[in-house]
Amino acid sequence: MLIDGHNRVVNYLRVSVTERCNFRCQYCMPDKPFSWVPRENLLSFEELFLFIRAAMDEGITKVRITGGEPLLREGLDKFIEMIYNHNPDVDLALTTNGYLLKQVAGKLKEAGLKRLNISLDSLRPETARQIAQKDVLKDVLAGIDEALAVGLKVKINMVPLKGINDDEIVDILDFCKARGIEVRFIEYMENALAKDNLKGLLGKEILEKVKEKYVIKKVGREGSSPSFSYLLEDGYKFGLIDPHKHDFCETCNRIRLTAEGYLIPCLYFDEAMSIKDAVQAGDVPRAVEVLKTVLRDKPKENRWSDTADQTNETSSRAFYETGG
Ligand code: SAM
Ligand code: SF4
Repeated sequence: MLIDGHNRVVNYLRVSVTERCNFRCQYCMPDKPFSWVPRENLLSFEELFLFIRAAMDEGITKVRITGGEPLLREGLDKFIEMIYNHNPDVDLALTTNGYLLKQVAGKLKEAGLKRLNISLDSLRPETARQIAQKDVLKDVLAGIDEALAVGLKVKINMVPLKGINDDEIVDILDFCKARGIEVRFIEYMENALAKDNLKGLLGKEILEKVKEKYVIKKVGREGSSPSFSYLLEDGYKFGLIDPHKHDFCETCNRIRLTAEGYLIPCLYFDEAMSIKDAVQAGDVPRAVEVLKTVLRDKPKENRWSDTADQTNETSSRAFYETGG
């Protein structure tokens, strides 16, 4: 079992497989031209897997693949298969913008993927284009349909932004409800790379919008999930991720690995340690030592509560690097 310096059990590893992306979301990497390709010094899937396998043997039971846009990395299905074959019981999930999903959903399912989180910030083509800075909606919707058709368990992520898509909170909820899939509203997290003057809605403002149409009941957090669940009267469940409150830090169970081999203990802070030299030398015990050091020093809580008014420091972490 992996335990951090604040006595929290860590069993969830998020793995970012690339910083590249085919979108330029305003809250993530708005100012990079589409032609920008990061000069990544990627670990190979075999090297990443060496570490993941050891981490699973130490107590990781849930692995989520993310990015950048993970579907841009070739051979992703083989990587998923490696993880699945090591332990078919692992809770194996992927977060994607869904743009390329239609072509690969079936292959990913066959490789052992169980769950998918797909980002969907708008159902209006123009608004979706404004956020991603590209005409994306048709392909994302086709990706969602295909994922459901091949039997993957799907959740939708939406980041409500003031004056942009905050009038679509109920529409997105209804879209998900009609398909029997859960939506998770995520508070916009201020960071140095996001578009200037972008404002997100706080959790309570998001709930107010839902309450304009529905009566809602608080349920609670499921285990260590950062998502707080709510029920509508007809039993439909949705989630809210509200890091500005950071009460979920108390039960934080996660650690992040970047495509270049950095282990990141908290999304908010810059601290990281590399496992790259260790895995490239085939020295897995040394990589596990690095993991244990990072866990020992994992911060107690994030600092987004200080940043909501944008007068304090914001996180300098790039979401496309850490995978959100
Ligand atoms: N490209 C994939 C996608 O967009 O789903 C995976 C990576 S993305 C960094 C993972 C999640 O982080 C997405 O759901 C995205 O909406 C969310 N995200 C990115 N930047 C964010 C921010 N500043 N605040 C809140 N959520 C953010
Ligand atoms: Fe790309 Fe995802 Fe960041 Fe949007 S949120 S720019 S899709 S990595």
